[in-house]
Parts: sequence; structure tokens; C-alpha cells
Amino acid sequence: MFRLPITHAFLRSLSPSSTASSSSLLRRIPLSGSNFTPFSLSRSASTWYYTRKGLRYSTELPETPPRSYRLFGGRPFSSSAKQGAQYGGNQYRRFNDPKREPLFLRLLQNAKPHHFIVIGLGISGFYIYNTDTVEVTGRRRFNCISAQRELDMGQQSYQEVLAEVRGRILSENHPLTMKVNRVLQRLIPQASIEGADWKVHVIQDDGMMNAFVLPGGKVFVYTGILPICRDQDGLAAVLGHEIAHVVAHHPAERMSNSFLTMGAALIVSLLFDISGHLPSLLLNLAFSLPNSRTQEAEADEIGLLMMSKACFNPEAAVGFWARMQEAEKGSPPQFMSTHPSSYNRMESIRGWLIKAEAAYEDSGCHAIGGFIPGFRQASHDYGW
Ligand SMILES: [Zn+2]
Repeated sequence: MFRLPITHAFLRSLSPSSTASSSSLLRRIPLSGSNFTPFSLSRSASTWYYTRKGLRYSTELPETPPRSYRLFGGRPFSSSAKQGAQYGGNQYRRFNDPKREPLFLRLLQNAKPHHFIVIGLGISGFYIYNTDTVEVTGRRRFNCISAQRELDMGQQSYQEVLAEVRGRILSENHPLTMKVNRVLQRLIPQASIEGADWKVHVIQDDGMMNAFVLPGGKVFVYTGILPICRDQDGLAAVLGHEIAHVVAHHPAERMSNSFLTMGAALIVSLLFDISGHLPSLLLNLAFSLPNSRTQEAEADEIGLLMMSKACFNPEAAVGFWARMQEAEKGSPPQFMSTHPSSYNRMESIRGWLIKAEAAYEDSGCHAIGGFIPGFRQASHDYGW
């Protein structure tokens, strides 16, 4: 359920192609072996551009004839101008007809100052109404997607991912699936996600160093990331981070931001009569990159606390990210492409370790013997 009907209407108004892309934005899996960046704004922006192309009317034509043509009235220099001459200049004349001007520009020209004030207040109200707080970190952010809608989209993505990895998922009784599940079961009590139905899927693909969790609690771990995890603590660092993205509703936030990006790019493009690429690129930079870093840092912090409360060694997170950076140096980007290392991740994690160790103590983890060595031994048996 959307918080405002306008959001619903906005989604409905998307073309079938853009709606499909919106749902596929939720996928956190490389398609056909290639790298796939989830919630990619550039992806949504290009979809929007495609939609706009369908609506375009005559933006490539100059508002006035080329200078040479206009001044001298003689032989045109360009083939396009020649084409315009062939049509008797009709294409130029229609720009002088106010009835043929785009509706948006006509509305803009006729708008009174108070219209802008009303529109501005409406947009601000919508933004403020749909602003919420991330529970653990207290960060305020724009999020117009409800938790239920996010779960629904997660479910849709789940079916798509299952179709993609069909035949490569290890059975529920496979030792690796059971081990990953054991780590997950210890983390779940720390992850409050309403309506979640947790399930582990280990995908047999030693060349893929990736893992992700969909809204709704479907966990996917590629066998290629297990050697990087090294042991249960390393795996808890990965799962903690991925679960934290879902706990903090980052998928919904990214989608909400992509709506803002699309809307703003559309307005900028209509106002300045330029291709959708430039404004969407600029807005992508403005919204996506800093936001992405913010979300990564937040997932690191929440995940670290989560794994500590579940009695996993929080220092393992530093080791995991160091190994991951090393492993991805010479190979095509996989996990790191969706988890940018453009901020000093390990420094930040070290900064949170004191807090994480306090959470570990508070949970009585020392009293129950701390880390469970049996799992570590068993994990060696399977080469990770
Ligand atoms: Zn992440």
C-alpha cells in the first residue's frame, strides 16, 4: 500500500516497459553471468528516456532555420535543412503555432506566480509526508514505498531470480546450505522484518563472489564467496550486511529516489528542451552515488551490530572486506560493484568496533563461550 494515492498513480502511469524495469531494479543478481547493479538509477533513467522517446514530437528540429539558410535564403548547407526545404518549411512554421507547442510549455507560459507556489508547496508536502527515519541510525530519508509494496516487489524479484539460477541451487540438505542456514538462523532474531519468510539458497557457482538478500527474507549466497568469508564469522559479516540493507528498507529508498530522479529529469528536460540523458546523468550523480555510499555505511553499521548481538566476532567484518577487495582486484567486478568501496569502509568498521563489542558483551556472548569453533572446523572441511 502506498502512502499517498499519487505514488500509486505514478507507478500506474509508467509504461509497461518502465514498470518492468522498476521491478527488475530489485534484483540483486548478475544476469547471464554479467554484472548486474541493483537499483541502478542509470538503468531507470534510460528506461525513462526510452519512454520519452516514444512521446517525443520534434525536439531535433531547430526552432528557427539554420543561420546560413535564414540569412541568405539560398542553398542549404546541410541535408536536414534541404529536407526542411523539401517539405516547404512546414516543419518550421508549426513551431510558430502556439497550439502545436508542447502542453508543458504552454502551461508554463500561462502560469501565474501563485501556481508555482501551490506546486512547490505540493511537492514539498509530498516529500515531507514521505520522509521517515531509519531505526538504528536515526537517519532521515525520503521513502514513498510502503513496506508491503517493498515485500511484494521482493516476491516478484524472487521468482525472477529463481528462474535465473534454476538448476544451480544446492539442496536444502546440502552441507553448505545447512551451514549458511545455521548462520542465518542466529542472525534472524536481530533482524526485525515484518512479514519476512526466511529461506537460504546456495547457488553453485565458484566463479561468482556474490550474495544478496531480497526484501521478504530470501537469501542467496554463491559458493564463490564462501572462501572469501573463510568461516562463520566472515559469512555472518556478509549476511549481516545484506540483511541490514533490507532491515533499513534500502531497496524502497533507492526506488523512491529513482522516482525523484525521473521526475526531476523529466522537468529539467521539458524546461530546457534537451535530451533526457544529460539531466538524468547529473541527477543520477546527485542522488545515487552519495546515497549509495550512505546506504553502504549504514548497512555496515547495522550489520556489524546485528552479527555482534548474534555472538559472531565483529572483527571478522574487517577481514572479510580486506579479502574481498584483494580477490576482486584482478577479476571482473561482482560484489564490489554493488557495494562500492569509494568510502573508507574498513576504517569506518574499525570505528564502530567498540560499539559492536559492547553489543556482543551485552548479549552475554562471552558467557555462552563466544564463537563456536565447531562450525569453523566444519567449514574447513568444505574448503571455506
Ligand atoms: Zn551493501
